[in-house]
Amino acid sequence: MIIEGRAGIGAVMGSKNLFGVAVMGRGKVVPADPAASTAALRTAMKVIRESRGIQALMKHGTMGDYVANSVAGDFPTKNWRPNFQDRAEAIYEAYAANNLIRNASCHRGCPVACGRVVHVIAGERTAPISLS
Ligand code: SF4
Repeated sequence: MIIEGRAGIGAVMGSKNLFGVAVMGRGKVVPADPAASTAALRTAMKVIRESRGIQALMKHGTMGDYVANSVAGDFPTKNWRPNFQDRAEAIYEAYAANNLIRNASCHRGCPVACGRVVHVIAGERTAPISLS
């Protein structure tokens, strides 16, 4: 299951009493010009992979912004007040050293793989390693 929880989409859906939208099909999507479609896709993938911003996402995942976002007060915790400024770097380094297992993609075709598989080794959320 994929849950879309960013950008207030859920709030808008809730205000319309809309619980969910599901789209399903059985047909195959065939481009009008398969060769041009493949060429455009390859170009797009190359541009994505060569982007410095994307390379940072590939290397650090969305957690890579943790320290800068903390300093900027860009966390929703405690009503957007900066609250980890003095500890953000140590928190990120501890996470990277102790919990990070590998990159993860939402789906096979994503070249970014900004997600992370992590192991929670202690505390309330302790969990076994899951590589699924
Ligand atoms: S589709 Fe790719 S870039 Fe988007 S969230 Fe998933 S892994 Fe990250």
